[in-house]
Order: sequence, then C-alpha cells, then structure tokens
Amino acid sequence: MEHEMRAEYEEGVSSTSADAPIRLWHMVRLDGTQGMCGRDLDPRAATQSADAWGTPQGEPFCHSCAALYLREVP
Ligand SMILES: [Zn+2]
Repeated sequence: MEHEMRAEYEEGVSSTSADAPIRLWHMVRLDGTQGMCGRDLDPRAATQSADAWGTPQGEPFCHSCAALYLREVP
C-alpha cells in the first residue's frame, strides 16, 4: 500500500498559502485526503513523500497515524 503525508493546519488557516503553519502531518493513502487516524484533511493541503516519516521534515507527526502506519509497513 502506497502512502504519502498530508498536512493539517491550524484552525482558520488557509492551506492554499505556501507558508501556512502546519499543525500536524498525517499519513494518508496515496491521493487520499483522509488520515489513517480518520481525520479528514484538505485536498489542497501540502503533501510530502512518506519517506519523510521519522525525519525532521515529517515533524510534528500524528501519533495515531504513526501507530497505524507502523502496523502496515513491513
Ligand atoms: Zn493522523
């Protein structure tokens, strides 16, 4: 299963702004907008490769997604 990371923003922040502060990164199915934790994310939100998971670029990361993702990745 392919995954990517999608950003969640602070309440009321426009995700179309390139420098919008990211509240949390979630793991989603490739091209999906719902986090593995069940959180609905903005389709316009920033994404990055799942390779960033566990690196400083992937922080802060959603703990629920991390736990679920770990179970899926060999
Ligand atoms: Zn999550």
